[in-house]
Amino acid sequence: MKDCIFCKIINKEIPASIVYEDSNVISFLDIMPANKGHCLVIPKKHYETLLDIPGENLSELIKAVKNITKALSLSIGNGAYNMVMNNGEDAGQLVQHAHIHIIPRFKGDRLRLSWSHKKYGNKEIEEYKENIKKFL
Ligand SMILES: [Zn+2]
Repeated sequence: MKDCIFCKIINKEIPASIVYEDSNVISFLDIMPANKGHCLVIPKKHYETLLDIPGENLSELIKAVKNITKALSLSIGNGAYNMVMNNGEDAGQLVQHAHIHIIPRFKGDRLRLSWSHKKYGNKEIEEYKENIKKFL
């Protein structure tokens, strides 16, 4: 996509610190890391969100995420990480090209990925369960 910053990285129109690349997936260091080593993993084809990515491409993407996470963990000697994917503007997706964050975590790093907890009303959780199941 023409004005997509991630497509420009894929096309080597702008530089990035690329840690992995194959025919369908590319991964590079986030230039505004939550922690140092924070990687982004993206499909080379422009898909906007998780729901737009076809199954076979998604499998390749997730396998790459696993391999990169392993390499990242070995490189920094720490196996704790968060895997985050923001989908849609309301969820905080800043670049409209699907991407998965791998954020290494360290004891006491004070990084906040927390949220407050909501409460279901009487039997409301069962209604949510049934409504979701209707579409599966
Ligand atoms: Zn793109």
